[in-house]
Amino acid sequence: MTASTPTGTRVQFRAVTKQYPGHRALDGVDLDIAPGEFVALLGPSGCGKTTALRSLAGLEQITDGEILLDGSDVAATPVNRRDMGMVFQSYSLFPHMTVLENVEFGLRMRKVGAASRRTRAEEALEMVGLGVHGKRFAHQLSGGQQQRVALARALVTRPKVLLLDEPLSALDAKVRVQLRDEIRRIQLELGITTLFVTHDQEEALAVADRVAVMKAGRIEQIGAPEDLYQRPSSAFVADFVGVSNRLPGTVSGGEIDVHGVLLPLLAPARPDGAAVALVRPEDVRFAAAGVAATVLTTSFLGALRRTRVALADGTELAVQHGTEVAPAEGAVVHLAFTGAPVALAD
Ligand code: ADP
Ligand code: MG
Repeated sequence: MTASTPTGTRVQFRAVTKQYPGHRALDGVDLDIAPGEFVALLGPSGCGKTTALRSLAGLEQITDGEILLDGSDVAATPVNRRDMGMVFQSYSLFPHMTVLENVEFGLRMRKVGAASRRTRAEEALEMVGLGVHGKRFAHQLSGGQQQRVALARALVTRPKVLLLDEPLSALDAKVRVQLRDEIRRIQLELGITTLFVTHDQEEALAVADRVAVMKAGRIEQIGAPEDLYQRPSSAFVADFVGVSNRLPGTVSGGEIDVHGVLLPLLAPARPDGAAVALVRPEDVRFAAAGVAATVLTTSFLGALRRTRVALADGTELAVQHGTEVAPAEGAVVHLAFTGAPVALAD
């Protein structure tokens, strides 16, 4: 299948607000998605992810602000003319139609001729690895296969933008990873602008060019996965993109004093004073000397081990380390820190 829009479509949200009776689901969302870019909207349940997606699709009317496709305001463009391909968490295939008929459906609605319809549907199924299953019905497919069909059905009309709302949430872990990687492969192959909604940080970091972390109807931070992980702008983002330890300390001259250990700051411009250092579990080590701590629990996680310890003042920390070390619960250990932490006010 060839890409319909080889250059992709630009999507812009400008100060978009969506007010439901008694609840503001979107509260001034600004988002600029480059042609062919894959952006993940990441955030807890209820933060407005689905509302943002549905507003772009034209399924919700926004209260304020504007949404542009390639620079044109879409306010007056109805759902069926916005050219969006959508995949939802529920597989939502028509049960009385075969796989091929499901995929052809959008083309039938667009009055594409039978022969062309068939060819394009077969190509789309081929692309998602289901070329041989065209004659089956939805109930004869696994969940992962049904989502592949849903993906083929969304792409067969050659939409301007692909919208995915938690498409992997109902699948088991292994299938989830396979399909996620495949969505990314297909997206890159087609060069299609994609907005992917998820509450799973690993999923977002793994597939997206940029991740927008949402909180209460706003985008709290947007950036490349590495940026978000290494330079979260708030404790909320840090929590959301991975486990972080919070260590109270004092900033002075671009360093932070944490329990008597001086750590250089990732952003040394921070003003002096009390702060919280975010230290990732992989940046804490057991050492011969350093901050004393008591082992609370330790868990074997296959490739690594995670151990929780408590400092003298009660602060708890997670330490991620190799499986060759298995600290005894109750043992006194010493901790050293590697890497430069992010310091936050809260
Ligand atoms: P998410 O997809 O991030 O879980 P949603 O966009 O579905 O969040 O919802 C955002 C907020 O808007 C939620 O608090 C939800 O209860 C509220 N909401 C969604 N749809 C409606 C509606 N039709 N009427 C009133 N409130 C709604
Ligand atoms: Mg949702």
